Amino acid sequence: MKKLVSVLLASSLLLAGCASGAASATTAAPETTTAAQTEKETAAETTPETTAETTAAAGVFTGKAQGFHGDIVVEITVDGETITDIQVTEHSETENIGEAALPILAKQALDNQTIMVDTVAGATITSDGFRAAMEEAVKSAGLDVDKLSLAVESSQTDKEEITLDTDVVVVGAGGAGLTASLSALQGGAQVVLLEKMSFAGGASSMAGAGTTATGSKWLAEDGVEDSPEKLKEDLLKNGHNFNHEPTVDIFVNTVGQAFDWLVDPEGANVEYQRPTTSRTYSGVGRGAGVVKTLLEHVEEAGGQVLMSTPATELLVADGKVAGVKAEGEDAVYTINAKAVILATGGFGANDDLVPEEFQKFVYAGAAGATGDAIEMTKAVDADLINMEFVNVQPNSIVLPSGLGQYCNPGVGGAYKASGAFMVNEKGERFANEQGGAYDLIQAMKENQATYLILDEASFAAFNAGMTGSKIYTDEDVEKWLENNGASNPVMVGGDTLEDVAKVLDLPEGALTAAAEAYNQAVEGGTDEFGRSLSLKLSGDGPYYGIQMWLRYYATLGGLHINENMQVLNTSQEPVEGLYAAGEVVGGLEGDIYLGGSLFGWAMTSGYDAGTSVIEAIK
Ligand SMILES: Cc1cc2nc3c(=O)[nH]c(=O)nc-3n(C[C@H](O)[C@H](O)[C@H](O)COP(=O)(O)OP(=O)(O)OC[C@H]3O[C@@H](n4cnc5c(N)ncnc54)[C@H](O)[C@@H]3O)c2cc1C
Repeated sequence: MKKLVSVLLASSLLLAGCASGAASATTAAPETTTAAQTEKETAAETTPETTAETTAAAGVFTGKAQGFHGDIVVEITVDGETITDIQVTEHSETENIGEAALPILAKQALDNQTIMVDTVAGATITSDGFRAAMEEAVKSAGLDVDKLSLAVESSQTDKEEITLDTDVVVVGAGGAGLTASLSALQGGAQVVLLEKMSFAGGASSMAGAGTTATGSKWLAEDGVEDSPEKLKEDLLKNGHNFNHEPTVDIFVNTVGQAFDWLVDPEGANVEYQRPTTSRTYSGVGRGAGVVKTLLEHVEEAGGQVLMSTPATELLVADGKVAGVKAEGEDAVYTINAKAVILATGGFGANDDLVPEEFQKFVYAGAAGATGDAIEMTKAVDADLINMEFVNVQPNSIVLPSGLGQYCNPGVGGAYKASGAFMVNEKGERFANEQGGAYDLIQAMKENQATYLILDEASFAAFNAGMTGSKIYTDEDVEKWLENNGASNPVMVGGDTLEDVAKVLDLPEGALTAAAEAYNQAVEGGTDEFGRSLSLKLSGDGPYYGIQMWLRYYATLGGLHINENMQVLNTSQEPVEGLYAAGEVVGGLEGDIYLGGSLFGWAMTSGYDAGTSVIEAIK
C-alpha cells in the first residue's frame, strides 16, 4: 500500500535561513512539492554538492525503517543544511493511529529541524520508525546527524491557565465520547470534548465496527428476526450470567433507537453496509471510518475538540461534579460544566488494574486504555463492577511491536485449505481448533505454549488471509521466516515436521506422532476433540509452525451506572453531574463479550448519555 503524507515548509524564516546558510546550494527549495515532482528532483539532484564552506547537499533523499506494519519511507528535501520538506511516501501504519501520527511527526521534525521528534502518544512504534527513517535520509543527504538530533524543545515552561465554561464536557473521543458529544450538540448543548491522544478513536478505531442493531428500523426492514428479549438472553448466556442485568436492560431497550439515530441523515449520519442477515451491521471503513465521520460531524456541529489534552481530575463541590481539570501541551484547563460524561474506554493498558491472571497473555488493545476514569472517580467514591473480567480471544500472534494481533482471517483460510492443527509445548493436540472461541480459550489457558502446525497449502492460505486483510505483507513473512523464531512473531518453516519441532523445542517425535494421529482421525471420521475433520495435513513438506497466543484487549468491568447513564457511588446513589458511556461502564457483557455488542454499546451508551444530559440540564 502506498500512502502519502506531506509536510511543506511553511516558515519563510526557514527559507531565508537556508538561503543564507547554504552557500553551496544551487537549487532553491520548491515552494510546494508533489510526490511526482520529488521523484523527478531525486533523479536530477541526488548528487551532493560539496564545497570548501559546507558539505551539505541539495536535493531529495530517502530513508526507510520498520514501522508498526511494514516500512515507513520518508523523503526529505534538502537545501544547504536545511530540510525544507518532509514527505512520508510509503507506509502501512494503522488508520487513525500510526497514520494519524505521521503528519504530526513530520511537522515536528520540519519545524524543529530535528530527527529526534517526540513520540506521539499511542503511536510509539510508528514514532520510532519515523525517527529511524529520518536518520537514514539525513545520513544519505550528508547532513550532520548530531546537529539534527537535538530533542524538540518545549515551547513553554509555564503553561497558560485557561478557564472554559460550557454545558457539557466529554472526556475521551472514542466511539462513545463522539456519539455522546454529537447527541448533546444536536440537543442544543455547548460541548467541549477532551482527548488525551493526538488523534481520536481509541479502541473504536481499531475495531471492525460490527454494531448491534436490535430493535432498529433497518433490522425490521431487512427482515431479521430479533428482539430486546432475545438480545438479553444471548448476552446473559454468552457472559455466563456474570452480566449486570440493569446495564444489560439499558442496552437492549435503547440500542434500536440509538442505531436509528446513528444511520439517520438527520442524526449522526454514519455510513453502514446493508443489508444484514444477523443483528449487526458493519460500519463503512470499519471502526476508523465510523470515528472519522463522527469526529467530522462533532466539529461541524460546533463541538470544541481539544486533542492531546487529558482530563486529569474531576471538579467536585459538595459531592456534585461541576467540570474537570485537563492539561494540554501548552495550557492547563479548568473546564466548568453542567455535566461531565466520562468516555475514557477500558483499562487493558494498565497493569495495575488488569487482573494478574490475564497479564501473561498478550495485549492487543488501545494504548490510551489506561482506566483514567476509574482513578478520577475515586474522588466521588464511584462504585465499580466486574473489574475482574477482561475479554480474551484465541488465534493471535505477537507482532514485532509486542502488540497482540488477531489472526482470524488467516486461521479461517488455513483450516479450509488443508489439515492444519494446533499443538501445545509437548507437541500434542489439545482442543477442537475450530470449536467455539470460549472453549478454545479455556483449552489454550491450560498450556504453556501453543502452535499452529501447517503444510504448504494451509500456510499459504493463512498468509493470504492476513495479507488480504492488510495485517502484514509477504515481505514480513519472508523476514519472519528468516528470523526462525528468534523474536516475535514466531513463524518457522522446515522440510520435515521434525525440523519444525526442533526449532519450536517440541519433544522429538511428538509432532510427527500428532500429525499421524490427526490424519488417521480424518480417515476414521472421528476426532477425539470433536472437530469435524475432512482434510489431511499433507504427507510432503515443507511444514510450518506459528506460535499462537491468547490476547486481551477490551475490558469488561468499570463504572456502575443507572438508567440515566449517571455514575453511582458505593452507596448506590447517583453522583450529580457525572455520566458515563462506553467501555468505561462495567457489567454489560459478563466474562466475555458478544460480537458487535461492545461497539454497539459504545454507540448506544454515548447516544443515551448525550440525550440524558440534555434532559438533565434543560
Ligand atoms: C482490536 C479491537 C477490536 C475490537 N473489535 C470489536 C468488535 O469487532 N466488535 C465489538 O463489539 N467490539 C470490538 N472491540 C471493542 C470495542 O471496539 C470497544 O469496546 C469500544 O469501541 C470502546 O469505545 P469507547 O468509546 O468506550 O472507548 P475508546 O474507543 O477506547 O475511546 C476512549 C477514548 O478516551 C481517551 N481517553 C482515555 N483517558 C482519557 C483522559 N484522561 N482524557 C481524555 N481522553 C482520554 C482514549 O485515548 C480514547 O481515545 C474491539 C476492540 C479492539 C481494541
